[in-house]
Amino acid sequence: MRRLPSTYQDDTPLAWQTDARCAETDPEMFFPEKGGSTAAAKKICSGCEVAPECLQYAIDNEEQSGIWGGLSERQITAVRLGKAPNPFTGQIAA
Ligand code: SF4
Repeated sequence: MRRLPSTYQDDTPLAWQTDARCAETDPEMFFPEKGGSTAAAKKICSGCEVAPECLQYAIDNEEQSGIWGGLSERQITAVRLGKAPNPFTGQIAA
């Protein structure tokens, strides 16, 4: 899916949320019940231009639930702990 250019302009920490695609959807989709499907949320994230910022926010804040930047909590934890590369930067946390 083609990503649109981000429109947020300022450097405040949460300015990226201005362009969050999930803001136009049901937020419950991003916090499914245990064992529930994450496919619909991840599909929306795949077209979100601020997914890298969203993932970084989740990593920095040690988010323990939900879909952030297109990754599940388990995937986010793996990136945060250096067990998987950040899918946007390719870097592995030290
Ligand atoms: S990456 Fe997904 S969860 Fe994050 S702001 Fe975009 S749509 Fe929302």
